[in-house]
Amino acid sequence: MTEPLQTLFTGFQGREEDIIPLLHRVQETYNYLPEDAMQAVARFTRVPESQVYDVATFYTEFKLAPRGAKHIQICRGTACRMHGGVRYVEALEQHLGIRAGETTPDGAYSLEVVECLGLCDQAPAALVNGVPVTLDLDASPASWLDSPPEAPQGLAAGEPRWLTARIGAAAPDDVTAYEQAGGFAGLRAALSRSPQEVIAEVEQSGLSGRGGAAFPTGLKWKFTAGAQSSPKFVVCNADESEPGTFKDRALLEGDPLAVIEGMLIAGYAIGAAQGYVYIRSEYHRPRAVLQRAIDAAYASGYLGKNILGSGFSFDVEIRVGAGAYVCGEETALFESIEGRRGMPRYKPPYPTTNGLFDRPTAINNVETLAAAGWILAHGAEAYRSQGTSDSPGTKLFCLSGDVPRPGVYEAPFGTRMRDLIEMAGGDTGAVQAVLVGGAAGSFASPAQLDTPMSFEGLKAAGLSLGSGVLMVIGEGRDMREVLLSLALFFAHESCGKCNPCRLGTRYQLEIVKKIVAGTATDRDIERLHTIGRTMTTASFCGLGMTAATAILSAIDGGLVKW
Ligand code: SF4
Repeated sequence: MTEPLQTLFTGFQGREEDIIPLLHRVQETYNYLPEDAMQAVARFTRVPESQVYDVATFYTEFKLAPRGAKHIQICRGTACRMHGGVRYVEALEQHLGIRAGETTPDGAYSLEVVECLGLCDQAPAALVNGVPVTLDLDASPASWLDSPPEAPQGLAAGEPRWLTARIGAAAPDDVTAYEQAGGFAGLRAALSRSPQEVIAEVEQSGLSGRGGAAFPTGLKWKFTAGAQSSPKFVVCNADESEPGTFKDRALLEGDPLAVIEGMLIAGYAIGAAQGYVYIRSEYHRPRAVLQRAIDAAYASGYLGKNILGSGFSFDVEIRVGAGAYVCGEETALFESIEGRRGMPRYKPPYPTTNGLFDRPTAINNVETLAAAGWILAHGAEAYRSQGTSDSPGTKLFCLSGDVPRPGVYEAPFGTRMRDLIEMAGGDTGAVQAVLVGGAAGSFASPAQLDTPMSFEGLKAAGLSLGSGVLMVIGEGRDMREVLLSLALFFAHESCGKCNPCRLGTRYQLEIVKKIVAGTATDRDIERLHTIGRTMTTASFCGLGMTAATAILSAIDGGLVKW
């Protein structure tokens, strides 16, 4: 090992779980993963070199060849494609004289096309060395490439602002301002009760997971608290990576202390002393803000030993993903934290008994944790005062696509789809379709705009809430292009563990390309349905099970002609 590499390993213990953080550090230093550095990581963590190579080649963020001094990532996900993302790629390819995926001969620039940056509200989205920037297609690339303006944080609006009130109101790592705005009241209330009482309050509120699966949060905590082995863990799933979804980014960047508070409450409730936030690698800015908030919470005694003199101790550590949508699946996320490829595990056993490091784990979405803090501060009854009886409380909806004011809108469950679109300035008379729930969701037709955005209302309309996405596709858009972006996303993100998804997403992409080219036949559409059914019924995890849903809903709903 060379001297600089030894220095890079300072602070690590040489555990298997150090592999991904070490590879990140190597790449930050060298701009790629040199082979001798990967060999050194293998020796240091005492795993075969093949395992490190396996990890390095699984995650798209890791590069085995040098990137440019300026690494430009342009999104071609659904909303970005609608707003010219692909044209930016073409303009840059022409300007730089390279193709996407290449580096200029002088090493100054590299260009990468990505499927989702979690910035759909700022479409077309781009990152330059991790910083979200605003690009200007009307100007020549030469004029904006070297110092593009940093993109703003994004809009948070709606009513009532239970979870979003503090976004933009104060510095997100200012503990005093957070306390003055009602922060940590939920934690204080929790610590004054028994863990069982805390779980009962959350159960009574009817809070369910906001990541997409909607599992009852109180029940999850109860199962984890009741599991026999220890230690137990809290994991905050901040791997928001699905086109159309960016609400967790708004919380992480705008009110990270609320997420930390939710983790503390979960830790107290289930009997855990350690929490991890697994955040997607593209969220450089939210991660930096979150780290500052964690540091501030430690400095003011809200993290660490004997919090508020209660005898309860809790630590939080950030783990950074490396570019794999599948890691939003809870068991794939555990595999990733443990230092392996992010491939889902067979279930059962479930995370509540055999989660991270094979220990009982409560894994919750960012928004779920923020809501838990609100519930402890204000009570389950107050939480149930908004929303419907089957979908109590508020929800953060992600409005993007053809709306003038894209952003995160907080509203009570049961708010009509039409009202949310109008809140974002959208003209509901000019809606061709709405992607509801995310890439794994379905398309709603204009006739469905009065659907109440609640679990039961959407179910009755044959739709699903997913992560709360409403992506508006305006009149005049080519729906075939929209389907192409979804097919590209799933084909890119399939982890390859099971055949139905690995092959199905590729076949699906091939047929959607034929639809775009105008060469698809009825037989192709029949095959598309067969492939979709196979993926839905035979895939190993939710990614494959939902990879065809939106595409088939557009075809079956008559939104796309071939
Ligand atoms: Fe991987 Fe897709 Fe199978 Fe999930 S369904 S395990 S993402 S190949």
